[in-house]
Amino acid sequence: MAKSAAPDFHQIESLGEDIKRYVLSILGNDLYPPDPFRYYSGLAYAIRERLIKMWLATQASYYDSMSKRVYYLSMEFLPGRFLMNYITNMGMEDGCRQAAADLGFGLDDLAEEERDAGLGNGGLGRLASCYMDSMATQRIPGYGYGILYDYGLFHQRIVNGWQEEEADNWRRHGSPWVIDRVEHLYEVKFYGRSEAYNDPQGVLRYRWAEADTVMAMPCDILIPGHGGKHVTNMRLWAAASSTGFSLRDFNQGDFLGAMQSKIHSENISKVLYPNDEPIQGKELRLRQQYFLVAATLRDIIRRHKKSGPGFAEFPDQVAIQLNDTHPTIAVAELMRILVDEEFLGWDEAWDICRRTFAYTNHTVLPEALETWPADLLGRVLPRHLEIIAEIDRRFLLEVAVAHPGDQVRQNRLAIIDPASRRVRMAHLAIVGSHKVNGVARLHSDILREKVFPEFDALYPGKFTNVTNGITPRRWLLQANPALSRLITSRIGPDWTTDLDRLAELLPLADDPDFRKDWRAAKRENKKRLARYVLRKSGMGINPDTLFDVQVKRMHEYKRQFLNVLHVVTLYNRLRRDPALAVPPRTVLIGGKAAPGYFMAKRIIRLITAVAETVNADDAVRSRLRVVFLPNYCVSQAEKVIPAADLSQQISTAGMEASGTGNMKFALNGALTIGTLDGANIEIMEAVGRENIFIFGLTAKEVEATRAAGYDPGRRVAADAELAEALDMIGRGYFTPSEPDLFTPILDNLLRHGDYYLVTADYRACLEAQDAVNALYLDPEAWTAASIRNTANMGFFSSDRAVLEYAKNIWNIEPLGE
Ligand SMILES: *Cc1c(COP(=O)(O)O)cnc(C)c1O
Repeated sequence: MAKSAAPDFHQIESLGEDIKRYVLSILGNDLYPPDPFRYYSGLAYAIRERLIKMWLATQASYYDSMSKRVYYLSMEFLPGRFLMNYITNMGMEDGCRQAAADLGFGLDDLAEEERDAGLGNGGLGRLASCYMDSMATQRIPGYGYGILYDYGLFHQRIVNGWQEEEADNWRRHGSPWVIDRVEHLYEVKFYGRSEAYNDPQGVLRYRWAEADTVMAMPCDILIPGHGGKHVTNMRLWAAASSTGFSLRDFNQGDFLGAMQSKIHSENISKVLYPNDEPIQGKELRLRQQYFLVAATLRDIIRRHKKSGPGFAEFPDQVAIQLNDTHPTIAVAELMRILVDEEFLGWDEAWDICRRTFAYTNHTVLPEALETWPADLLGRVLPRHLEIIAEIDRRFLLEVAVAHPGDQVRQNRLAIIDPASRRVRMAHLAIVGSHKVNGVARLHSDILREKVFPEFDALYPGKFTNVTNGITPRRWLLQANPALSRLITSRIGPDWTTDLDRLAELLPLADDPDFRKDWRAAKRENKKRLARYVLRKSGMGINPDTLFDVQVKRMHEYKRQFLNVLHVVTLYNRLRRDPALAVPPRTVLIGGKAAPGYFMAKRIIRLITAVAETVNADDAVRSRLRVVFLPNYCVSQAEKVIPAADLSQQISTAGMEASGTGNMKFALNGALTIGTLDGANIEIMEAVGRENIFIFGLTAKEVEATRAAGYDPGRRVAADAELAEALDMIGRGYFTPSEPDLFTPILDNLLRHGDYYLVTADYRACLEAQDAVNALYLDPEAWTAASIRNTANMGFFSSDRAVLEYAKNIWNIEPLGE
């Protein structure tokens, strides 16, 4: 391509006409009456057309440069909405605003018509999407690979105070962002058996016989980098039956039988599994994992062969990042392809494998460390179980050489647990990778020192850390136009791709005029959120109160219950002393509970019950309000986070791997109240101890407290306010018609040892909240701290994170301009 005559892919002039043409011809709809969803779709298709042209140019530059590429394998992506992200990253905002206005619409109203792509549970999927944005922006050649679920994470409704789940059929009306590639189908096998045979040279080989097959269809979603010069591809697989509508079956009279097998095949990409469900042993989940892996490796190898070199050069051309253990069966699949299909020797294949894969661990919760019963795995993937057993055998020989005679150690490290006959996917991932990383410094330390110390001793240097990051494009530029405009007006626009530049705001924290503008931006966001809450729940909230926000998945370790105890205590204090010198507060809590997670659902009911009581009490009305925000998702986060004054990050120390919600809030100028957990520690170091409210036990103290046999009863007896709050909840103060509703929550605390140490951290939490109140009553000091938070968040850009991966793990150079 000639470098000089850069084609203009944006073509703003014809945008209005293109939108109308799409509404008419592609969507087959009338232009009148002007329906916003149709015009959103028309605009989306017009943008998509421009993007495809740009992408074709990017593809050419990949092949030109023959550069190494990274393949980011993830069972989840949580992109949210695409339209405004495409428009801002392509620099088309002004043009689109004008085109929308000419057609009689506001651009933001059209954007609201889009349904979120909710193909992930929360943090892990959202991280993958932030990394896609940063890879595109930083010109790191790579692809995301995942599954195109028909149904994303369920929609949450609140009915009579309880969570109800609704199916999320997000593509019911089609999606302009998904490009089906019907021409590139791959076969994926399941079941059958492994068969030994002798090849013509008499060498013993294995093949997969009598397998069922399912077709995998690639569906691409293009991810434009900021500035619009580079586009990355996210390839999501959809399952299709290999038979389709089989005329042969039909003629033989087995129509329903044929349809049954079609349905069975297509089930694979039907629905995303929610977190925290007991999925172990669920065959469909295992099939999903292998489906992603098998189709993706086919695609990678096809591309590798097309570009020329042999398999010896594979690790120089290909890096595969495993986002958690979910795609770890890839280790066995690549071995199977290299040994059984490409006829490489075991040692050579194994060397290629290890140099290709790297594994990111996302959790130390023991219940989340994935294992599969060996017999289930062997039934679904017979040859893979054999290969895993061989990897395990050779690995245990290594262990035996390092620690002769230590059978106990061998059993602990084994990939297939000899006692339970379960395959430990984390062990397979560690053994099969050249790098293993945690997602925040504390988490990576815990992995090395507590969870996998023997692996660390065996493989010095394999364990490393890459602290998570978030994309400043979506989470500041796009979600917070008011603040972005203010920042750009003072330091110019370069912060959007070089977030360290925000440090130039630091001196402005001492400038009263700038602080006034900063407060005005925050107030605009709070008004926007108040309108949203009114629209969604009919409830009015006051933008001139302290917005105290905790939004994230509901989980006991995240301790939404501790937040509730603070609310109840504050309520009691206000009832006793209506003149109490604290700022009026609006507490907003949102998050989905896994459908089968009893305790998390009960905590949602507790929050809605406390909200009903508090909000109905005229005595505290203007001082305290509590709102449960239903259906927390990316598009909601984009409205909630820029409006927050206070960000609650209060997990039991040692249990949150990193968190990324914490970063989004601080970047938008919220002050954090939090524990020394996950990335909170690094956020504290960055923003300064005086600009964050840290409380509670450290990870080491949590461990020691548990080891010493913690007694919550003594703690409660010694703390009158805590005892009162627990007593009100336990006796049905908030649910008089069902007084026993929260007994299970209280039992967990008082009878079962309070594993998450809520009572242990309660008093420290309240003291930290006292400090919050005091600072908020001094708006100038609060605003200065808020500015210092934003200004010091440069490190937490996902651009920094992907560049670390590229340098230390993938060995990939970003492409030049
Ligand atoms: C960022 C984000 C998360 C992760 O939040 P944490 O507070 O880190 O758990 C979950 N869900 C959505 C929709 C997000 O945007």
